[in-house]
Amino acid sequence: MMANAFRLKCPTCGERPLFVPWHQVRSLRDWFMPLDGCPRCGYAFEREPGYFLLSIFAINYGIGAILGLVIYLVLDFWARLPIWLVLTVTVIPMPIFNLWFARHSKALFLAFDLFFDPHHGDDNGGDQRVEPLAPTPKAPDLEPVSKF
Ligand SMILES: [Zn+2]
Repeated sequence: MMANAFRLKCPTCGERPLFVPWHQVRSLRDWFMPLDGCPRCGYAFEREPGYFLLSIFAINYGIGAILGLVIYLVLDFWARLPIWLVLTVTVIPMPIFNLWFARHSKALFLAFDLFFDPHHGDDNGGDQRVEPLAPTPKAPDLEPVSKF
């Protein structure tokens, strides 16, 4: 699952991509939003609205913060560069890293979630499969209540 996540592939089958390919990205939404689900195995990527919030706050910001801190500490205490240079070299790459890493953080979150809370399969336990929309069933015509 982790290998699939690093390759930005479906966490269950590893065959289909999670995102629009980078050369077909036309908007920020294309870059950040995962596809609806895997057309091969039917795994729905976004289980509920806001599902990926934790991936951004915990994984993307978390790893970005740790990386920035490590770069800062190495440059300041080890390389002993002047502070303006240390801050420039530390602060400027971080937003770029976070933009690039956003897809990976979502893919990693999917893999973690699937590993710790497996929900695929046919047990119908909260599984959301990607299926074509069926026409909404009409409400049955109500019969008048018979009087006894
Ligand atoms: Zn799949």
